[in-house]
Amino acid sequence: MSTNGNKACRLISRTADAAYGDPGATRIVRVGDVAVGGTRPVIIAGPCAVESREQTMEIARAVREAGCDMLRGGAYKPRTSPYDFQGLGEEGLKILSEAKARTGLPIVTEVIDTRQVALVAAYADVLQIGSRNMQNFPLLTEVGRTGKPVLLKRGITATLTEWLCAAEYIAKEGNLNIILCERGVRTAMSGQYDRFTLDLNVIGAVKEQTFLPIVVDPSHSSGARNRVPNAAKAGIVCGAHGLMIEVIGEHTDPSTILCDGAQGIRPSMLRRILSDLR
Ligand code: PEP
Ligand code: MN
Repeated sequence: MSTNGNKACRLISRTADAAYGDPGATRIVRVGDVAVGGTRPVIIAGPCAVESREQTMEIARAVREAGCDMLRGGAYKPRTSPYDFQGLGEEGLKILSEAKARTGLPIVTEVIDTRQVALVAAYADVLQIGSRNMQNFPLLTEVGRTGKPVLLKRGITATLTEWLCAAEYIAKEGNLNIILCERGVRTAMSGQYDRFTLDLNVIGAVKEQTFLPIVVDPSHSSGARNRVPNAAKAGIVCGAHGLMIEVIGEHTDPSTILCDGAQGIRPSMLRRILSDLR
């Protein structure tokens, strides 16, 4: 990051706090009993979108049985086409809350609109800011004000400085409970054999610049489930503090899934990834 960038991101910069002077030192973000940023990789898994109660309960159970740490799932979906499934809204949040009660897994779910921050925060353990909203500054400010942990995904074409400045907006509200998430960026290769290009080098660069933990989402970059396991392992090898992975039912026909069916892995594959990692 440039000198200018360092000043622009003063609160989250590694130089901001002497306790985090060493590039290996990470500020732990606590979500219930889960510590994000320690030596044990944290695994967040679940459906792309909450599509039904039955689908979510089945996947939640599988995610817990695989030994994952948190359940993800979108109730509000930022879709490219306005005619695509936009999520179940508050009904989806209620389903997630039942899944949490049944499994004990904390919930990570996306908020896409400042008007819904209070509602989503009432259900979520971690507020997700999606790629398409990484520079929605009023939204960053609002999630900062909740004080809740925030999972901040990298924008589709965001530079490292732009991404860190987005985190700074959250920190500026007094909220340092920020988890960065690399999910792939758009490059010349994007769409040829991948969906986005997973930027593994950014993990080390993030750790040089900030004490915030970083996780990798191998699903949105791969775009196809068979490519997810290697991308997941590569993320951890490159120093990520955890993973966020999309999951579909073991026997679900992917063509029936309303959102991102091609990239969701089945629970059997999830279990293999976890046993390889741990
Ligand atoms: C998601 O994680 O469900 C999502 C929409 O991802 P992204 O914002 O990275 O596209
Ligand atoms: Mn998705």
